[in-house]
Amino acid sequence: MPRPIQARISLSALEHNLGIARSRTRARVMSVIKAGAYGHGLLRAAEALRATDGYALLDINDAVLLRDAGYRHPVLLLEGCFTPDDFALAVRHDLACVIHNAEQLAMLDACPQRGALDVWLKINSGMNRLGFAPQAAQAAMEKLKAHPAVRNVTLMTHFANADEATGVSAQLEAFNALTAAWRAPRSLANSAALLRYPETHGDWVRPGIMLYGASPFAEMSAQSLGLQAAMTLSSEIIAVQTLRSGDAVGYGGTFRADAPMRVGTVACGYADGYPRHAPTGTPILVNGRRTRTLGRVSMDMLAVDLSGMPEAGIGSPVVLWGDGLPVEEVAAAAGTISYELLCALAPRVSMVVG
Ligand SMILES: *Cc1c(COP(=O)(O)O)cnc(C)c1O
Repeated sequence: MPRPIQARISLSALEHNLGIARSRTRARVMSVIKAGAYGHGLLRAAEALRATDGYALLDINDAVLLRDAGYRHPVLLLEGCFTPDDFALAVRHDLACVIHNAEQLAMLDACPQRGALDVWLKINSGMNRLGFAPQAAQAAMEKLKAHPAVRNVTLMTHFANADEATGVSAQLEAFNALTAAWRAPRSLANSAALLRYPETHGDWVRPGIMLYGASPFAEMSAQSLGLQAAMTLSSEIIAVQTLRSGDAVGYGGTFRADAPMRVGTVACGYADGYPRHAPTGTPILVNGRRTRTLGRVSMDMLAVDLSGMPEAGIGSPVVLWGDGLPVEEVAAAAGTISYELLCALAPRVSMVVG
């Protein structure tokens, strides 16, 4: 028997969440499937999301995998190309490329084909991560428009605060002011902007996290947005300990019982992708009931409080996140975000489709 830990990926949840994205916009939907579809498995997620209008990811080899698997959708490389060879590969497989700096613009000149490449000109409207500064964007746009290798230009930017109180207004204004007179399709919105700021939708929206059933907002649950968890990480209790008052649990003994209690040992640890920084009190389900973790997370195991759960014992099912326990809640308890937990799922965890 393998260890009882597994990640179940719900294809119907992915499909459903794409439907929620569609119901919120008239723009075309570019489903973001970077990082192995946020840990859900690239081709598995691509298949469940095949009703999308396009896919966006980072790794050109993953983009080629999509083409080899028969996907004809627009496919966008979110960081663009890194070498002239990448451009040749992008042309061969009809992959759209972000152009975010002058180096990529120069590399494009080595691109042999005429009129075959779709590019997305990325503008830095205030996040200061990727993109041309507004004062450099006009020249980049003119060069792309006139370039023999370029077929279509789409304008894009990315928001730093769509999920926060700051919002998008300053970046949206900067982008709109710069591009008002330019005739080209536009793409601005991640999940948070798609859900909260219809004025950002433009021609293409780029949802990621919402497709996987997690809320991009700290103060709004996935359930209230109509989203369904696409990944459920589950395992079982493999040992039970009975503590006396004063007994400690796990490395460092950071949890100490102040009364007799039962503690379950779960086959899941940080080598499976569970956050080691999850403190005592992180929510977890045993037999479908909510309880809490105790002490430090080990490499392969963690401890749960079985107080008031006399029915729980070896073999009892445990949900680490997913169905009945939003991944955002576990992430918040561990001081991180759902994205990180989903992407960090370890390859050793077997995935099943359900
Ligand atoms: C990751 C990413 C997205 C998707 O963001 P979510 O918050 O997951 O919806 C959209 N656009 C770009 C450029 C990205 O890198």
